[in-house]
Amino acid sequence: MTPHIRPDLASIPAYTPGRSNPGAVKLASNETTMPPLPSAAKAIGEAAELAHRYPDNQSGELRAALADFLGVTVANVAVGCGSVALLQELVQITCDAPTDEVVFAWRSFEAYPIVTQVGNATAVPVPLDDGAVHDLDAMAAAVTERTKLVFVCNPNNPTGTAVGREAIIRFLDRVPSHVLVVLDEAYYEYLRLTPEDRPDGVEIGRDRPNVLVLRTFSKAYGLAGLRVGYAVGDPEVITALLKVHIPFSVNRVAQAAAIASLEARHELLDRTHALVVERERVREALLNAGYRLPPSETNFVWLPLGARSAEFGEASAAAGVLVRPYGVDGVRVTVGDPHENDLFLAFATDPAVRARFA
Ligand SMILES: *Cc1c(COP(=O)(O)O)cnc(C)c1O
Repeated sequence: MTPHIRPDLASIPAYTPGRSNPGAVKLASNETTMPPLPSAAKAIGEAAELAHRYPDNQSGELRAALADFLGVTVANVAVGCGSVALLQELVQITCDAPTDEVVFAWRSFEAYPIVTQVGNATAVPVPLDDGAVHDLDAMAAAVTERTKLVFVCNPNNPTGTAVGREAIIRFLDRVPSHVLVVLDEAYYEYLRLTPEDRPDGVEIGRDRPNVLVLRTFSKAYGLAGLRVGYAVGDPEVITALLKVHIPFSVNRVAQAAAIASLEARHELLDRTHALVVERERVREALLNAGYRLPPSETNFVWLPLGARSAEFGEASAAAGVLVRPYGVDGVRVTVGDPHENDLFLAFATDPAVRARFA
């Protein structure tokens, strides 16, 4: 007889890894195409030589480096095995009854409904507006006395859209201060809004204990394979996160690579700048070919193709470029190296493909 498994898990789809087609160009996971910088590779090698020793469970050196970089104290910073682990831990520290609600926009990051259900809480998805942007008024209206947590993905994955500083502040002013609001800023480094409009969660959260910011080393910092993300917030929230943290889950190699990458951030952010230039080139080419797509503040673009999304994904894969279709909403295309983007554009702007999809 099989052992008892929580029956509610049956409704969570079993994990299906992103497509990988040998030889195909992969623009499906928002990864950085460039390998770690030499300084990070050196730190990785040195840390690997100490692999027989447990890592620092408190990630003290990394948290101190992050605190210094962000202008906060170590007590304001937690790290996790990728920011997805922190998402799950955030549900664990806020929700303790199945009637507790977690509000988030939809469509947004696919981890939100999953971590909510795994945490035995109730998901409250709030549709994006028709420009694929967070509808913060509707989200504020969806907050009830049962709401324990709100995720705001800014910029939003998979639509690439961002909401500005004023809009975030207006939203926060409407949410009761006992509700934790998580600003998931995985793509923060790709934002090119003006300094006044830039929604810097760390700055916005300084005098708001119910705001917690998530950032990651997986995207602009190029360490997706090592799994390090971090949270910045009120010391009481951070202390709770440390309590539910899976011991030693941020490994020694990951901590060392993150510290080295933070030190080399100017080089990494130059790469980000080059990516933003490519992003605008890709978007322009798609607009000129007749596609509709919202502005992107991330390292990907969004094609709202509705019911034709899966078909577009299949056709692109057949042309050697893997992209990510999302149900009947749209297709997310990561911005890669120029030659990879050219391959995608050659497919998408082909007259026959345009005739079907643009
Ligand atoms: C990629 C991504 C993350 C980061 O995931 P990691 O676990 O840090 O690799 C978090 N939130 C969003 C919205 C993302 O797209």
